[in-house]
Amino acid sequence: MNDLEKAEAIHKRMLNQFGISELIKLNVYKDLALALNARDYADLEENNIYINPLFSPASQSDLEINLPKGAKIITLDINSLKHLSSIESIAIILHEIGHALNPFEKGENGEFIADDYAIDRNYKAALLKSLVSCKKLWPSEFDKNITEKRINRLT
Ligand SMILES: [Zn+2]
Repeated sequence: MNDLEKAEAIHKRMLNQFGISELIKLNVYKDLALALNARDYADLEENNIYINPLFSPASQSDLEINLPKGAKIITLDINSLKHLSSIESIAIILHEIGHALNPFEKGENGEFIADDYAIDRNYKAALLKSLVSCKKLWPSEFDKNITEKRINRLT
């Protein structure tokens, strides 16, 4: 799969045109596209997994495709990603893809499996950085036992 094919494949997963241009500005879009291989894109397609960038606290967008029932949407808050580096943002998105592909894995095991998806795509160090950053930025969400367990597993 060449870079152009990857660009087309990631574009098909995106629900929000304006969000794409924001992800490009954040240097997230291209490296996210390149982090995934042909098998990964096939998994995303078979499982009807889509990415929808939004702008907190609320935003709207027009849907240009018909989503099948049960489609999984990974929602990205562009305003939050602005506080993180591009590699941290990509690691977080890969983690969420890992969740979307393993919907029956819950709790600690679900977190570790989602982390493994990012680790397997060479984003282990970035994932660790993202957890440390998120803990500082959003302690109410991330200053938790599970975050410590994830950090320990990555160090
Ligand atoms: Zn998670």
